[in-house]
Amino acid sequence: METPDSQKKGYVYIIGAGPGDPELLTVKAARVLHDVDVILYDDLVSSELVDQFSALKIYTGKRKDSHHFEQDAINEEILRHAREGKSVARLKGGDPFVFGRGGEEIEVLRKNGIRYEIIPGITAAHGASAYSEIPLTMRKVSSSVAFCTGHPVNKIQVPDADTLVYYMVASSVHEVLDAVEKKGRSESTKVAIVQNATRYNQKIFTGTLGELRQREKAVYSPALLIIGDNISHFIEDNWFSRKRKVLITGGDSSRYNSEEHVMVHFPCKRVEGADREIVRHALEEIESYTLLLFPNKLSVKYFFQALFDSRKDVRHLAKCRIYTSGKAASLELQNYGVKADLSLEPESSGALMTLLQQKGVTNQHILLPGSTLVDDSLVSELKALNNRVTPLSLYTHGVNVQEESLDLDFIDEIYFSSPSCVRNFGQLFHSIPPKIVVTTAHQGVEAEYRKLFVH
Ligand code: SAH
Repeated sequence: METPDSQKKGYVYIIGAGPGDPELLTVKAARVLHDVDVILYDDLVSSELVDQFSALKIYTGKRKDSHHFEQDAINEEILRHAREGKSVARLKGGDPFVFGRGGEEIEVLRKNGIRYEIIPGITAAHGASAYSEIPLTMRKVSSSVAFCTGHPVNKIQVPDADTLVYYMVASSVHEVLDAVEKKGRSESTKVAIVQNATRYNQKIFTGTLGELRQREKAVYSPALLIIGDNISHFIEDNWFSRKRKVLITGGDSSRYNSEEHVMVHFPCKRVEGADREIVRHALEEIESYTLLLFPNKLSVKYFFQALFDSRKDVRHLAKCRIYTSGKAASLELQNYGVKADLSLEPESSGALMTLLQQKGVTNQHILLPGSTLVDDSLVSELKALNNRVTPLSLYTHGVNVQEESLDLDFIDEIYFSSPSCVRNFGQLFHSIPPKIVVTTAHQGVEAEYRKLFVH
């Protein structure tokens, strides 16, 4: 963010990311995350959520194979960026002030005279309650609720409230239940464990206090334990469990509606920056082009990022005609206040050329933003129609090795948007469980899917 103010002094936002569903981020948090220079994010914040933002991202959690930050080191990291005059988002799971150490972090900021603000998030208890259809309070059943922690085990408290919600119970469910029973709650008290609340892999276990104490010890993570009579209103077939969980590989999910589906985005593509010097050079001559052709959504996104980085904006495109291929690209374009002169909807990448030919694209000077995998046949066919074509590589594709593992057991359908997504998916998963329905964007993708997965 290049306001004169932030160039002089840093500014820190302590932000709650919500319990998991990326759409449970507040409008305010999303706006700020789009603007900041640096995002430091925690374990419980999914990469699907942070991937939408272009800031420098630093993971401060404890995932396998990554550098482990202690709280002091995190504080230092926040201070370091703030002192460089940057705007910093400290992004935490749920709400920063509910078992989130937000209090400790602002203490450090206060001491060091760094300006900050706090943006609340939906805490796990509220996410779990809504997505499992267990109200935390209910007239005549429960008129008080307490948020407690199951860690450390020797400090478990049992407050006198109708509904109790325990955080951090991964390995201490039994200890919590023992403590609750000791406090006088009957064996028949209803209990629920909500694991991965609000995520595609949400799982709910219910029973009575007595039954769950008999059960073998298990580790549930991340999970909440809810105790109280309001759980008797729980139904297995709730609004969230009824939705189809669709794994979207690639960017475009517009064919699925959110009323019936939960979209799990698994990009299968790692997108990296391209050579900035080459891009800058091409953009210097932007006004010499007569046609700008966006083959997909990412090409739009990265083109505008590069355009703004080179201190230009849409006014520099005024003389150029703009064509897009695919609905996702034309929608993305509208985010930048631009309507395509022509939105083509080809059935396959080969069909794009036919459409361009039909529209009489000839004698143009074409800029073709895209990935480093230039579509050579498109370029040569456009040239054959007497056009001058400059492919502009803005990003690189690679296999996306997800840090968080994906659990196919919870997936009902997989949608492949391109052959390269099928191949990349194939490198991570060698087979697809038969209960999963597979759909593909067009015949070319279908063929690739059959080649790799159907024997
Ligand atoms: N600040 C967070 C809590 C951090 S403590 C908040 O407001 O939600 C970490 C604990 O939060 C986990 O051990 C687990 O008990 C709970 N938690 C966080 N996300 C969760 C989720 N999606 N499902 C169930 N529990 C979750």
